Amino acid sequence: MAVSDSDFTFDAAPDLPASLVQDQLDLGSESIHIAQKLLQLTSDVIAIYDLAHEHLICQNHSLALLLGYTNTDHIDEKIILHVVLHPDDISIFAGHLEQMKFAGDEEIGEITYRLQHANGLWRLFSVRTMIYKRHADGSVEQVLMVARDITEQHESAARLQADNALKLAQLEQAAEKIANEREKMQALSHFVGRTGHELRTPLTIITTSLYLLKKMNDPLKQAERLQIVENQVAQLSRLISQMHILMKLDSIHQPITPVTLSLNTLLTKLEQDMASAIARKELIFELDFADDLPAIQGDLELVVIALRNVLENAILYSDSGTIRAQTTSRNNQVILSVTDTGIGIQPEDLAHIFERFYKVETDKKNARVAAGLGLAIVKCIMELHGGSITAESEFGRGSVFTLVWPL
Ligand code: ADP
Repeated sequence: MAVSDSDFTFDAAPDLPASLVQDQLDLGSESIHIAQKLLQLTSDVIAIYDLAHEHLICQNHSLALLLGYTNTDHIDEKIILHVVLHPDDISIFAGHLEQMKFAGDEEIGEITYRLQHANGLWRLFSVRTMIYKRHADGSVEQVLMVARDITEQHESAARLQADNALKLAQLEQAAEKIANEREKMQALSHFVGRTGHELRTPLTIITTSLYLLKKMNDPLKQAERLQIVENQVAQLSRLISQMHILMKLDSIHQPITPVTLSLNTLLTKLEQDMASAIARKELIFELDFADDLPAIQGDLELVVIALRNVLENAILYSDSGTIRAQTTSRNNQVILSVTDTGIGIQPEDLAHIFERFYKVETDKKNARVAAGLGLAIVKCIMELHGGSITAESEFGRGSVFTLVWPL
């Protein structure tokens, strides 16, 4: 029976939709009419394709409408394959049809492919295919295809996915920040705990000494005690200032704002500042400068602290011999090496001396209040400048500390 409803035209084989409706559903003419209306109403594309002849037998108008053509336009298999189907999807489409030749009666094949709208933009379709008719020998003759435009659905899913990915990245960033803060808090609480411990011993010595002083009558013993208190106070104030520097360094989150500095000039000034400490020992202090040493970029206060710590250590851990501060430039770097002929450092200690609160065993017994923070401070400062500090040492013979600044 031919379908004559003017709103529902099957251009290629006008009698097939009716047969489709009748054959499959065994409906009366009233029901056929309803089925035709339903096919007309649906925005999905419904079509029957002849697999053997590679020919689109019939379809409703949805494809034409969805692709921006008037409902009288006829989009046949040639136009689909050679004009509107995305070139990259031709093989997907062909493969799908080929697969359907071997499908079971109840099997539903599914693919998605892109078709070009009349406005030039690509639309994404999801297609479900089922066997409609077989030849007498059982081979597949025709398939029924239902295609749905899922462009918006796909785009909003992609947008949602992108939104989710963005939110996830933001949350990951926030979580990382919180973890970093937590780590910093833990480090700070460890630091505060350690500093409390480091301060306790000298404070006890001071308190006890003050108590004893009140009871002492011998002026010589009093002088001795006073000297102890004086030393402890001096070292305590050094310790507190070191803790202060380290906490300040820890709170620097932005790169430092550097100024141009001459390392040779700074070292010359420091040598003058330390003249009395050097003179108290049998030490020779040598400055060996490269004349054409390029200036470094750095924070004046921090660079002076780093230089002072390394030079003071060299003086402190050497009783006699020579301390040499040598500057050179090589491979776009300015290098300072401070060599001493002091007590040296055991290899097992050398690996740890840049760690916070690390003190070598002999130093712990020393009356000097040393928290093992000086070199940790230097390391921190050098890293803030994009540079480094390393140490080499031979126990009993001396040490070399090398500081490198990038140019
Ligand atoms: P502190 O701030 O307590 O002086 P540092 O961090 O400066 O500690 O040094 C850590 C340890 O490294 C010291 O306890 C000391 O034993 C050792 N050290 C540092 N410099 C020298 C040096 N030039 N010669 C020998 N030992 C050194």
